[in-house]
Amino acid sequence: MAEKRDYYEVLGVDKNASEDELKKAYRKLAKKYHPDANPDNKKEAEAKFKEVNEAYETLSDPQKRKMYDQFGADGPQGFGGSGGPFGQGGYYSYSSSGFDGFSDFGDLGDIFSSFFGGGFGSQKRKTNGPKKGVDLRYDLEISFEEAFLGTERYVNVIRNEVCDLCHGEGTRRGTHPETCTVCGGTGQIKQVQTTILGQMQTTRTCSNCHGTGKVIKEPCENCKGKGTVRKQVKLTVKVPAGIDDNQTIVLRGEGDPGENGGPKGDLYINIHVKKHSIYTRNGDNVLCNVPITFTQATLGADLRIPLVDGTEEIYRIPEGTQTGTRFTIRNKGFKSLNRNSQGDFVFTVQVQVPKRLSKEQRDLLVELAKTMNEQPPIKKKGIFG
Ligand SMILES: [Zn+2]
Ligand SMILES: [Zn+2]
Repeated sequence: MAEKRDYYEVLGVDKNASEDELKKAYRKLAKKYHPDANPDNKKEAEAKFKEVNEAYETLSDPQKRKMYDQFGADGPQGFGGSGGPFGQGGYYSYSSSGFDGFSDFGDLGDIFSSFFGGGFGSQKRKTNGPKKGVDLRYDLEISFEEAFLGTERYVNVIRNEVCDLCHGEGTRRGTHPETCTVCGGTGQIKQVQTTILGQMQTTRTCSNCHGTGKVIKEPCENCKGKGTVRKQVKLTVKVPAGIDDNQTIVLRGEGDPGENGGPKGDLYINIHVKKHSIYTRNGDNVLCNVPITFTQATLGADLRIPLVDGTEEIYRIPEGTQTGTRFTIRNKGFKSLNRNSQGDFVFTVQVQVPKRLSKEQRDLLVELAKTMNEQPPIKKKGIFG
């Protein structure tokens, strides 16, 4: 497949487009490129149509849009690159279907019938066609340090799994689903009605097989005929160093199983980073307040600065350092997820005024005060300045 175009470009909208703008753009383009509306160059239209659909599928879902903005068109497999702590494998080695899973035509009937007035695209709509499995969500809380260093966590996810006993057929051992005799296996019943406009054909879902085209006479005792069972599975999630609160990791193909041969759904892991008692984060920078004594501030000092990875850095502050002064230790912040760079560690010193002094300390200070016993002038600014 050729290189993917930017989804926003495909839809002709800008990056901040609202949901409404997206929908409008999508409808216009989907109408324009719908294969049925382009009988002369069906192939080309179909390709365009798929592209438009894929772009809309992604951008219309806030979660997927966030992912797309975060990681780009190649999907999350793209991030991590070569320098990451987990090496070349990427974070999503368990992905099964890549980023192409959105483009199947199967689920589109609903969208079309809403603006083609029903009859147009929906004639060919198949209720028993392949359908992608349901996407699942999981909230994972990690510590500030885990976000900084990256981690590997296990999550227990409850999802539908194909029944072992009947292999998803839903039938008792030794039997198989039978073709529905009411609809002949199509899952749909066509009816011709006579109206004032003439004869009209309508299609409805077969109620005997509920649109599946198959009938189970003897259901499987394990799954009661559903073909799937609820199961708890333990999955490994590789959390990359540098991940931020509210970002998402996708485990491709770890959602519910698809129907009628459709691909599995995906599992979206929403990351929540716990607040830290001394560090905060701003972009890829780590921020921290460091208390110092007034003598350190006055005379200068070598400060021991505790970094997020557990190591310490000795940092020399100059004499005459004022409270609130910020110092930067380069490249000791968070790793960037999509660039090969690292943020900084920025600390702000806060001069502590001692509340209690020994007699000796007090005497020394009194001596000092005698040499500088004058209130500093107030610097007037603004309208007085
Ligand atoms: Zn079963
Ligand atoms: Zn039927």
